[in-house]
Amino acid sequence: MEEKKEIALKNIPTRASEQYRNFPMVPRVVYGKGSFDQLGDILMPKRRHSEAPMIFLVDDVFENKPLLERIPTIFCDQIILISSNEEPKTEQVDALVKKILADFGDLPSGIIGIGGGTLLDLAKAVALMLTNKGSASDYQGWDLVNTPAVYHVGVPTISGTGAEVSRTTVLLGPDKKLGINSDYTTFDQVVLDPDLTEGVPKDQWFYTGMDCFIHCIESLNGTFLNAFSKSYGEKSLDLCKEVFLGTNSATDSREKLMMASWHGGMSIAYSQVGVAHAMSYGLGYVLGVKHGIGNCLVFQYLEEFYPEGVSIFKKMLHKHAIELPAGICANLSDAEMNTMITVAMGMAPLWENALGENWKTIVTPKKLASIYKKI
Ligand code: NAD
Ligand code: ZN
Repeated sequence: MEEKKEIALKNIPTRASEQYRNFPMVPRVVYGKGSFDQLGDILMPKRRHSEAPMIFLVDDVFENKPLLERIPTIFCDQIILISSNEEPKTEQVDALVKKILADFGDLPSGIIGIGGGTLLDLAKAVALMLTNKGSASDYQGWDLVNTPAVYHVGVPTISGTGAEVSRTTVLLGPDKKLGINSDYTTFDQVVLDPDLTEGVPKDQWFYTGMDCFIHCIESLNGTFLNAFSKSYGEKSLDLCKEVFLGTNSATDSREKLMMASWHGGMSIAYSQVGVAHAMSYGLGYVLGVKHGIGNCLVFQYLEEFYPEGVSIFKKMLHKHAIELPAGICANLSDAEMNTMITVAMGMAPLWENALGENWKTIVTPKKLASIYKKI
């Protein structure tokens, strides 16, 4: 009897290995220029009581800017300004959670992230860690979170990462850069107000926008592609081409890129990213190079894998007169280069999507070193 029971349990598939993934989507989204002003009304029914605040995690680029005044704080709500100069870290998440619990002694009613991928990911991670014990680093991986998060809202102020729709929050931990991928990570509410992306510096607009473009290229050229991902990826790619190669008014461009980001994020939800992301993770881990620019630095040398995508990318670079920095990997020690390669090669699902099951016959440490050396 006992033995039978054990076998039966072993045959139950884990969530990650389900043949047809049953993944969550953002259940509520408000879209439109000026829609940010509806946030107060949206939050009101989610307030548990006057002592359970809404905590707004806001990119400190908005310090002393009109947007701060428009944040609908009441009762004991708190605005915490956070720098996005560095990508989110597990210890930063742990510290924020500790502070929020110490300040209020009870769970807040909600966490609202206002900013780019950095702030959106921080908000997701803090919301998760308020209800889950231990350190955020314990949950980096797939489906390790068991308790639903505190209500959390994402308000993007720069477009491209798709972090507003994804079921992950990418964190730099003590021994790896990896997302907390779980059904509870996804936002409960997103506010898409294209006006909030006004004022993004041009280079940053390009780098974060290219994250979206690269999501599309990697998804559409991957072996995991299916009609679901393709439908979102193609729409997103069309929008990226309109934004970065066409002529648009500033307003049109902001609206289109915001929707491109959304669709790009949806496209990779049911497939995977590829070579540029795997290698960019290595750059990020060893040198702290940020996600958007890191993807661009790698992608320019990936003709072999994505010939058409790289050619379009170069046209976009040229049109917007963006000069990518060079010599980034020039002074790497052998040990650093090895770590970079190990981190990149550790992203097995990304390589498998890009090159199929036998990816290890194509991607060798020597090959990756030769690409990194060009950067
Ligand atoms: P970011 O959030 O780091 O912001 C980039 C810069 O733009 C910052 O200096 C910020 O202050 C500035 N900025 C943002 N909005 C602005 C505005 N309206 N006006 C002026 N300046 C503004 O950049 P990002 O590229 O959006 O995000 C990168 C992060 O997203 C990385 O940490 C990456 O790991 C993560 N990411 C997450 C996912 C996911 O699915 N969770 C996907 C891709 C990337
Ligand atoms: Zn990305």
